Amino acid sequence: MTKKKSVVYFTDLRATSKRNLFDKLDELLSLVGVGERFKRGHLVAIKLHFGEKGNTSFIQPVFVRRVVDAVKKTGARPFLTDTNTLYTGTRANSVDHLQTAVENGFAYAVVAAPLIIADGLRGNDGVEVKVDGRHFKEVSIAREIASASGIVALTHFKCHEMSGFGGSLKNIGMGCASRKGKLAQHSNSAPVVDPDGCVACGECALVCPANAIEIGAKAVIDANICIGCGHCIPACPEGTINVRWNETTGHLQEKLAEHAKGALAGKEGLSVFVNFVTRISPACDCYGHNDAPIAPDIGILASTDPVAIDQASADLVNAGSGYPENTALKSGHAPGGDKFRGVYPEVDWQIQLRAAEAMGLGQRQYKLEKI
Ligand code: SF4
Ligand code: SF4
Repeated sequence: MTKKKSVVYFTDLRATSKRNLFDKLDELLSLVGVGERFKRGHLVAIKLHFGEKGNTSFIQPVFVRRVVDAVKKTGARPFLTDTNTLYTGTRANSVDHLQTAVENGFAYAVVAAPLIIADGLRGNDGVEVKVDGRHFKEVSIAREIASASGIVALTHFKCHEMSGFGGSLKNIGMGCASRKGKLAQHSNSAPVVDPDGCVACGECALVCPANAIEIGAKAVIDANICIGCGHCIPACPEGTINVRWNETTGHLQEKLAEHAKGALAGKEGLSVFVNFVTRISPACDCYGHNDAPIAPDIGILASTDPVAIDQASADLVNAGSGYPENTALKSGHAPGGDKFRGVYPEVDWQIQLRAAEAMGLGQRQYKLEKI
């Protein structure tokens, strides 16, 4: 018997005075059953990325408000949530994180829901969840996400230096892990400097949150201190810092799929995924800046299948054209070209999709229904 494909709903960004983007977002939420899934008494985690200070690619709070309103209509009580980062920055503890979120526009007056950082003041508050994966038997998930009745993952879909792209799976897998879970995913991920290309400019050391890079005649990364965040890779103007791709990004993607499994455990039928494929920046929103988008905006997708929605988002980006000049896109500009490989040639972004499918999180076969 042929397996039924997962449905992914999609809207482009065309709008009229009678049907604007908020109306289209409402339709998407309705189609994935937000109105029926959540009930009075449910505490629903709206998992998003509030954006590092200085970044402007994250999902605009006015769209988030629309999702909050849709969840509230069911009688459930939504809260906006994310976890603290491994690296030093403006979201490394809950105090700085909440301050950054409010400064980026996620004030109660705008979003109409409380903000709760899910892994405690310093990111240490996690619960162990059984997953029985290839890398981990159990994973550490942020306590307040594990405690939530259900989840709406709002994801800004863009390129990512460690996984090719960052979509729903990354938002859930890395973004719902406690500090312990993030460290477990990043272990063995220290990049290496090719000394032949290094001009000892020190740019990499400036962005390293762990002070793991020493600049002498050449830069040297101390793998024992490195937390594997990958920030030094795009920071190097000579392009001479590389991850040991085969050993690292593949494993990281498999590990994030296992953590996604843990984050969604117990929320079967109570999980919804929405990808904003807009402002498709070459790196994640964890930087205090975002480089120019590598391709035009595509639209908004929604599904109950995190694998299908990420596959569909990647396919839509690759089906279109990339911006021809003045972006980080080095190849694959034509329709059909691989935009993620065009930014990170060595990263096989399909690994996360295969791993997540193997973990039973969803399927790569999908049916795209345009509204
Ligand atoms: S990946 Fe690079 S920036 Fe991140 S901790 Fe390691 S050396 Fe520092
Ligand atoms: S940024 Fe690149 S060139 Fe500059 S010191 Fe670091 S590795 Fe060397």
